[in-house]
Amino acid sequence: MPSKPRDRVGEIYGRLTVVRASERRTKSGNAYWWCRCSCGKEREVPGDKLSTNTARKKPVITACLLCSKELQVEGVCAKNDREERQRREDAKRQRDALKGHVPDRWLRLPLTDAHARELGQVLFFRGTSCLRGHLAPYRINGGCLACAGQTPSAHSALITNSPNSAESE
Ligand SMILES: [Zn+2]
Ligand SMILES: [Zn+2]
Repeated sequence: MPSKPRDRVGEIYGRLTVVRASERRTKSGNAYWWCRCSCGKEREVPGDKLSTNTARKKPVITACLLCSKELQVEGVCAKNDREERQRREDAKRQRDALKGHVPDRWLRLPLTDAHARELGQVLFFRGTSCLRGHLAPYRINGGCLACAGQTPSAHSALITNSPNSAESE
């Protein structure tokens, strides 16, 4: 007779509430528990995966299969959002420093590749130089316009325009 596991019915782990014991046992003899997710779906979870100790190395289960997948996607999106916000802030800062040094219309372009896509435009200007040292807008999927021979790099403008030049306003 396997030993009767500690009754965990009613315990809450993330979105899961333990609802009843399962007959199933893991190889090492741990009990499985049926848990109900906040979405209403049930999932059979081995007891050793039910933990509120998030500092431990072993992964824990905190939602049904479907919700776990969604939570992972949410996690990835949140990270991408953060990185994109940072890119746009960096681009804004770079561009502020270039006012008067580059054509004004460059400073009205979208800030990043993703920003350009959002606005349905094809060019963006992050205020950074390409690998070949050009300071020029980029085309989404296409790279630096100066590399493509479509726009001269702004470095010549940097030399000929004084920082206080108002002619571009
Ligand atoms: Zn769920
Ligand atoms: Zn280039």
